Amino acid sequence: MKELWGRKVLLKEIKQLTNHYQCLPTMKERTIKSIECLRCGQIHEKHTVSLFNGVYFCPACIQLGRVDTGQCFYHLPEPELIPRSVDFSWEGELTKGQQEVSDSLLTSADKGESKMIWAVTGAGKTEMLFKTIYDCLSKGKRVAIASPRVDVCMELFPRIQAVFPNEEMILLHGKMEEDYRYTKLLICTTHQLLRFFQAFDLLIIDEVDAFPFVGNPLLQYGVTQAVKSNGSLVYLTATPTKDLMKKTSQNQLKLSILPARYHRRSLPVPKLKWCNRWQKRVTRGKAPSGLVALIRQLIANNDLLIFCPSIVLMEQLEKTLRKTFLDIPLACVHSQDAERIEKVLNMRNKAYRILITSTILERGVTFDGVSVIVLGANHSVFSTAALVQIAGRVDRKMKYTAGEVWFLHDGCTQTIKAAVQQIKKMNRIGRERGLIDEL
Ligand SMILES: [Zn+2]
Repeated sequence: MKELWGRKVLLKEIKQLTNHYQCLPTMKERTIKSIECLRCGQIHEKHTVSLFNGVYFCPACIQLGRVDTGQCFYHLPEPELIPRSVDFSWEGELTKGQQEVSDSLLTSADKGESKMIWAVTGAGKTEMLFKTIYDCLSKGKRVAIASPRVDVCMELFPRIQAVFPNEEMILLHGKMEEDYRYTKLLICTTHQLLRFFQAFDLLIIDEVDAFPFVGNPLLQYGVTQAVKSNGSLVYLTATPTKDLMKKTSQNQLKLSILPARYHRRSLPVPKLKWCNRWQKRVTRGKAPSGLVALIRQLIANNDLLIFCPSIVLMEQLEKTLRKTFLDIPLACVHSQDAERIEKVLNMRNKAYRILITSTILERGVTFDGVSVIVLGANHSVFSTAALVQIAGRVDRKMKYTAGEVWFLHDGCTQTIKAAVQQIKKMNRIGRERGLIDEL
């Protein structure tokens, strides 16, 4: 019975069905000609999704198992909240900035308000959640932390489990082998939220601007269905989308900003450098002008991540740099690379000094003592959010290593300017609020 609390699942997704359940419709007619899927919210023209005998299905969310009008969703409402005692084992201390956000989150969760937390890259945002999660669990509430990225979920799980050592927890994502079971605290990918209905009193979405959540109406629908109507929805981001910013300015979402990192240093501001016809030079097997000198300068103090806009260019650049820097261990990594996990680990362990990479390393990874170069920052693959995230790879650890960020381009774009402005704005707010110490 517990298995169905707050769930919205098909019969084949249930381990053991008892007599006690509610049936919810899978699809809803919108007009004579169109029908809406009630798992993912997509509306289809009936004639495009008709199966047989007047049965319709939803192609949009079919990877989660086919929804059609010949079935129903099995569901049971969440039980009443019963306060309970929860073991909370966190002895860290929040900075002044973190504490302010933590307090405001606690208030919002208590009121059932939705909010966005805009915390700069490397701010230490997970710690700010602990108190509120603890408070919610103690009141008998159900809490989920979801992220579009499975690697973020896998990293979060042990951290949260360590803070709530005796709490039953489950990690849900597309490739898991563990069966679903009811827990008051869970971590999942945003896709998994499509299987919940009115389940969570507190639903936190981490990296809300990341692929595939951003611009994906299915996943956004899933979020609105999974949170209780009197629950609190919290978006966490270092680079909010225009949509979210609009919602905060219209007061649909409360906003808390954490403009400074826990170590109280300002965010490194990217330095812009003109790099004539970088694309052509790399394609011809030559190093773009000024790149070699810049690498030598940066490598004297730190390891180096070089972001490059395409796999072809990355591989070509790798060959060129190998010839120039014979004694410096380097590698190149991208999303299609079978050895990408090992290579990232090697970079972390300092087996390489230079890693040429695509945007796969733009977020979610922390390296000790690195500088960053974006080669071709004016390329369309680098959005403002991507550039801010990439710049955010530098100076994340407590120890200062004078890491630098360089954007190389052959035509400064609005995107580049917006990224630099956003970083400077956060630094300005951080100083105004007394959260940054000058070096
Ligand atoms: Zn659907």
